[in-house]
Amino acid sequence: DSRQAKPGGSGSAPLRPVPAFSDLPQYKQMKVHQAAGVALGIENPFYRAHEGAPGAMTVISGKTYSNFASYDYLSLNQDPRVRAAAVEAIAQYGVSSSASRLVAGERPVHQELEGKLAAFHGVEAAVAMVSGYLTNLTTITCLMGATDLILHDELIHNSVLAGAQACGATRRSFKHNDLDDLERSLLRLSARHRRVMVIVEGLYSMDGDLADLPRLIELRRKHGFWLMVDEAHAVGVLGATGRGSAEHFGVDPAEVDIWMGTLSKTTASCGGYIAGKAELIDCLKGYAGGFVYSVGLPPSLAAAASKALDIIVEEPQRVTRLHDRSHYFVGQLKAAGLDTGSCAGFAVIPVMVGDSIRAAMLSGAMLEAGINVLPILFPAVPEGSARLRFFINFDHTEEQLAFAAVETAKALQVIVDLGVDISSIDI
Ligand code: PMP
Repeated sequence: DSRQAKPGGSGSAPLRPVPAFSDLPQYKQMKVHQAAGVALGIENPFYRAHEGAPGAMTVISGKTYSNFASYDYLSLNQDPRVRAAAVEAIAQYGVSSSASRLVAGERPVHQELEGKLAAFHGVEAAVAMVSGYLTNLTTITCLMGATDLILHDELIHNSVLAGAQACGATRRSFKHNDLDDLERSLLRLSARHRRVMVIVEGLYSMDGDLADLPRLIELRRKHGFWLMVDEAHAVGVLGATGRGSAEHFGVDPAEVDIWMGTLSKTTASCGGYIAGKAELIDCLKGYAGGFVYSVGLPPSLAAAASKALDIIVEEPQRVTRLHDRSHYFVGQLKAAGLDTGSCAGFAVIPVMVGDSIRAAMLSGAMLEAGINVLPILFPAVPEGSARLRFFINFDHTEEQLAFAAVETAKALQVIVDLGVDISSIDI
């Protein structure tokens, strides 16, 4: 039959079937986790919709909860001055920047924000981008390449890992906050590479502990590497006036080559930035793909972050109260016999639980007690170190914190007494 389909034409048997997304290992793993949740009667704690702006309290399905899951630590997402700045910027510039800043997306609010960020960190210049994740990724890929070496803390954020993997440099992690381990890698590997970059977080987002900045600066002087510090959780949190790790440790900010921050935490907006020497910022503005080939930060988000930064500078008592409440909560947790791991007691406070199923059950029990706190499960943290992670907020009251500590201890005890044998769960 001359009309018979030719190979590859419509109607012929496929040479190679289109892959099914359901065959992806990550999809299968997600299904296993969901089945485990159903078998144990644990409601999925993720993707709950919050009605309104979550702060010290939040509303889910019409019910009000005490909230420990927002990183708006200084409650500026609620602040009418920050909201008004965003609204005014929309009225003046529209919702979008409508172009990359390189071409026609630059607005005065971008320059204003960057000037304030540089001054806040005590360095020469800054550049803001549309996301914190993207900022890490594109900065690392812009600066580092195949002949270079990246050494990072093993608990570094996924956005740093993504950049370190994408740039093609040799990449090694060192044990969490173990700077002897870092120095061993420096001695063994740095001579074989053109440039070396060491990347840490100022305040670790899962454990709430701090990088030892003074010792890192000493190592930088000795071994000649670029030091990059991700201050996502440290800005507005560490230091007497919230200027981050440099202020907390009393070191010169110029001794850190690359300060990275997000606009999504205490500055109540969205976006990320790099602050440092003018030459660094010029390079990124000219060559970082995630900046050059991406739209400019929406003017309203730049204006909101800019106003939030003004408030942090003008009202340092917000930072003081956040410190006080955080320390108070750690004290209450410890008094209730709970383990807060290595946390330093600034805004990010974990309660160590152990296995992931217990942590998920505990989060469910807390919700029933009127408290919204999320579990952090494997693979976000190593197997066996699942936890509840509490984010402290400027508006939390001492009563609320004391109640949360007592309820956590009670609910955890109930779960431990249940003695769930995870190996016997049929999924
Ligand atoms: N770095 C760290 C340490 C983070 O915790 C996060 C996100 N929470 C990011 C970078 C990414 O920032 P963003 O959410 O603003 O994209």
